[in-house]
Amino acid sequence: MNSKSLQSSKEWSGDTVNKKERAEKEFRADFPRAILHVDGDAFFVACEVACNPSLKGKPVVTGEERRIASAMSYEAKALGVGRGMPVHEIRKLFPEVIIIPSHYRLYEIFSQRMYRILRRYTESVEWYSIDECFADITGLDHELGMSYEEIAITIQDTLHAELGISFSMGLSVTKVLAKVASKWKKPNGRTIIPLNSIPDYLQKTPLGKVWGIGPQTTRYLQQFGIATAQDFVDKGEAWLSERCAKPVLEIWHELCGRSLHDVHPGKHSKHKSLSSTETFMPPTSDPTFLFSELSRHVELVTRSARQETLAATRVSFFLKTRDFRYRRVECVMPTPTALPHIILDAIRKSFGSVYDPSMMYRATGVTLFGLVPISHVSQDLFSTQTETATDSSKKLYSTIDEILNRFGSKTLYLCSSLTAFGNRKAGRKKERNFHLPILGKVS
Ligand SMILES: [Mg+2]
Repeated sequence: MNSKSLQSSKEWSGDTVNKKERAEKEFRADFPRAILHVDGDAFFVACEVACNPSLKGKPVVTGEERRIASAMSYEAKALGVGRGMPVHEIRKLFPEVIIIPSHYRLYEIFSQRMYRILRRYTESVEWYSIDECFADITGLDHELGMSYEEIAITIQDTLHAELGISFSMGLSVTKVLAKVASKWKKPNGRTIIPLNSIPDYLQKTPLGKVWGIGPQTTRYLQQFGIATAQDFVDKGEAWLSERCAKPVLEIWHELCGRSLHDVHPGKHSKHKSLSSTETFMPPTSDPTFLFSELSRHVELVTRSARQETLAATRVSFFLKTRDFRYRRVECVMPTPTALPHIILDAIRKSFGSVYDPSMMYRATGVTLFGLVPISHVSQDLFSTQTETATDSSKKLYSTIDEILNRFGSKTLYLCSSLTAFGNRKAGRKKERNFHLPILGKVS
């Protein structure tokens, strides 16, 4: 290579590098923050289809138990079935529609799985509703060596592969814009709105479709000729601040691309408590059975707490008599915990104070209160548990949780819950056995 060509080669490569750097900078300027919104497509029905693939591609409606349509597949929607439509009307108008009861626990399990998959990529995941999450992935492009779009594609593909249901994704610079983006194309859509493309989308978004703008505000603003989200943005801050409340103004900033609403890790509906209660038949005074029922409730609520990385500072339990009277006790935990054997020890100590052998009982229940993030829990210096014992219990339960997640909630349970699980098989109301796809590839 002669010196001239070497020179031109250097110029060429230098130019390429500059171009690449410029492109990267521009991309980052377009994403001062990167917020992802993930939204399950026809989520309830999709969960049903994932468990029963024979429903795939068919018009399916859930809500048989309430006698109104609570959710519907896209095929049912295309026929004209709407949410809230009475079941008898659907049967009359659309006899081909398959109407099934809702299984909210099943949807909750899928929801938790969605949340856990997102948390593999970032800690900053807000569980907004049963089928929606926000994730702040700002800076993750650098960390993973991928563009934000590639990260969104990877997450979308992982959710689909592991849950067997599709999600629509919106990626933008604020939460409100990420919501606009995820709605843009459904099902299985992926819409990216960088800072410089915001007007292109807002011009085509009716104001009433913007997250946080209710029908009343929409009607009010329509009087001033505001029809689209872009009309709203164009009115400007001064005009709006004279006529609208602060939350509406905050939405205006978010639509302009200025992020005011942070992604709050954890569940959006901040839990004040976690409960499990159930009535059984026939009423009984058998203390072994009653304690076993409490043990089963403790296993259920502590598992939910662990899944949400929460620990309880207080626990209450009750026995309900045949004549509907409650006997209730609250226990304060020496250290916040989500480990069932520790809570059961406390309940065992107080059981005698609520149990009366002359009474017949028809229900039991357990509630965890004062929930704090597990990460905030430090070892209690005066605890009788040694640090090693607590650590090994945590390890044990993380293994147990993995087994339960993969093989179902009845795979493993404490000996103290045995009678309750046995009774469940013998005479209690029959519970549907879900055939959940495991966390891993599903066909
Ligand atoms: Mg949805």
